[in-house]
Amino acid sequence: MYVLEKAPAKINLSLDVLYKRPDRYHEIEMVMTTIDLADRIEITPLFENRIVIESENRFVPNDERNLAYGAAKLLKETFSIKQGVKIKIEKHIPVAAGLAGGSSDAAATLRGLNRLWSLGLKVNELANLGAQIGSDVSFCVYNSTALAQGKGEIITELPAPPACWVVLAKPIMGVSTQTVYENLNIDRVNHPDTKGMINALKTANYEKMCDYLGNALESVTLSMHPQVQQIKDQMESSGADAVLMSGSGPTVFSLVKQESRAYRIYNSLRGFCNEVYVVRTLGYHQSLD
Ligand code: ATP
Repeated sequence: MYVLEKAPAKINLSLDVLYKRPDRYHEIEMVMTTIDLADRIEITPLFENRIVIESENRFVPNDERNLAYGAAKLLKETFSIKQGVKIKIEKHIPVAAGLAGGSSDAAATLRGLNRLWSLGLKVNELANLGAQIGSDVSFCVYNSTALAQGKGEIITELPAPPACWVVLAKPIMGVSTQTVYENLNIDRVNHPDTKGMINALKTANYEKMCDYLGNALESVTLSMHPQVQQIKDQMESSGADAVLMSGSGPTVFSLVKQESRAYRIYNSLRGFCNEVYVVRTLGYHQSLD
């Protein structure tokens, strides 16, 4: 007997950093949506009372440093559960990429264990618990499109974006979110128009959504890793409707209406960049061309 959960990656449609708080965290405002690039989480009950992580990806820790381990430990402790579990993570989301792969695995573990242990927790209750694990976990519990405020734990759901293709490209290096925030000069932030983005989603306006894409961390990562700018340029010259770095990077994504153009961008980046994907925003399964 086991439970399966999909753990989708997220992209930032906008990311703003408002100010540095007295507790040293940054106050942020992010509009995020999930895409159909996902890890697969398989949870099996164990006879021994312990948490075992199995993953074949060499960049993913197989011990208590894994965010899925943290999620299982939190639920075990909060609800005094004595049963152990094996959590098998089939990794498809690039690691340290700005796509919240670890947070999504933790969120999928919360959802899966909520079912396995019949805890009956509602999505907002699971998201509140998720906030103790990491700032993107609450959003990933919702698994939809939302505005995240505070440190990322205050979630307001939004309509899914208009149907489109998403081309993702990740250069070889990973980026530490902490390093990017350390290099951010809060007085020189390029603030995106979060309200404009929310309005574009509420009115299902694809062109406006493209216009309002923006990420306050982009210039910081670009100055550290010029390859990210090269990918942006390549996507723009290959016909993307809009291009942005996700999260703290280094993954860059294009939004494209036409499937043929998505594959033109994909082909132009293969060979130049080691990880390239063509996916869709979630919730749209019909042909988009
Ligand atoms: P975010 O967009 O939330 O900042 P990210 O996509 O940049 O996250 P992750 O892929 O979540 O980054 O990985 C960041 C680090 O977290 C990795 O270097 C890895 O050591 C650690 N980690 C812990 N658990 C996991 C997991 N389940 N999957 C991937 N990385 C994990």
